[in-house]
Amino acid sequence: MKKVYSIPELVHLLNCEGEEEKNLYNEAKEVKNKTIGNFVYLRGLIEISNICTKDCLYCGIRKSNTDTGRYSLTDEEILDAATFAHTHRFGSIVLQGGERSDSAFTNRVTRLLRQIKQQSNGELGITLSLGEQSLETYKQWREAGAHRYLLRIESSNPELYARIHPHDTHHSHDTRLKCLEYLRESGYQVGTGVMIGLPFQTTEDLAKDLLFLQNMDIDMVGMGPYLEHHATPLYQYRHLLLSQQQRLRLSLHMVALLRLMMPDINIAATTALQAIEPEGREKALEIGANVVMPNITPTTNRTLYKLYENKPGVHEGAKESMLQLEKSILRCGCQVAYGEWGDSQHFAHRTKE
Ligand code: SAH
Repeated sequence: MKKVYSIPELVHLLNCEGEEEKNLYNEAKEVKNKTIGNFVYLRGLIEISNICTKDCLYCGIRKSNTDTGRYSLTDEEILDAATFAHTHRFGSIVLQGGERSDSAFTNRVTRLLRQIKQQSNGELGITLSLGEQSLETYKQWREAGAHRYLLRIESSNPELYARIHPHDTHHSHDTRLKCLEYLRESGYQVGTGVMIGLPFQTTEDLAKDLLFLQNMDIDMVGMGPYLEHHATPLYQYRHLLLSQQQRLRLSLHMVALLRLMMPDINIAATTALQAIEPEGREKALEIGANVVMPNITPTTNRTLYKLYENKPGVHEGAKESMLQLEKSILRCGCQVAYGEWGDSQHFAHRTKE
């Protein structure tokens, strides 16, 4: 049964330590194993481009960062990466990238989706993470073969959102919310999430984020620690941040609590956890997460897709590191579900009603 908490209860649990923390983690693990099992689903992450029209104050690939080289993978590189995922029985891929909504871009994505579906005999599941788009574009991509979409709300608090984004119509909290509605209307399994440990963020904000995810009846969640990037405006507030270890711990508490609040959703163990600690993702898998997204972007471009510093996994996705990942997944009491889409059970449940 899904847990219902008040804000003060969540604030208390987000801060809990020792015995109470152990109980929280054990309970979340038990609920996950009982509800959706101990399977971990793989999504091969392809970072298709770091060209971005947005200027988010925390992100290393924001438009105003002239310090970074820009790239866009060729069709061939994207199709090859998808083939790699398919032959290594990942089950699905995620196409992620900087935000563009011009028709050259949106039509290209449509074409690529069709090609990936075709070359994998429809076997490869496809998740998109390409930011805010029109309802028509979301529908077009859905029809072309994508069936899951990730669009983080970043923070459910509009005031905090305004402090970490430029103040213009291009960066509006209301538009994000509208896009999440569009995605649902277009028939996607909808994923969202937040950054944890942002400057100016309170524990109460995070408690409200958890309630937001539950109230939105979301199918999938990707949330992880905020990591500072020196070439972004938010870097000037780094003195306000919790230590990276504290942000990691808070993120694990968020994952465990969300599992108790939404037992049948998909929760990703995000890369930012791994940036803080090599086995950060495994810790999340152990206590509630069930999805991992190994990076399969061609390694020549990987270093340029730097949302934050110390981004790990430069060689990840190669055969050798997949073996390592599988071993560490087994060590934390889970098993890899090869060749499966691993759709959100929550989506199946809510669409049956
Ligand atoms: N442009 C797409 C996807 C790329 S960014 C989109 O807007 O959805 C994917 C996610 O990375 C963002 O939603 C944000 O939550 C996260 N991110 C960006 N910069 C970050 C940082 N400095 N630390 C941690 N996470 C960050």
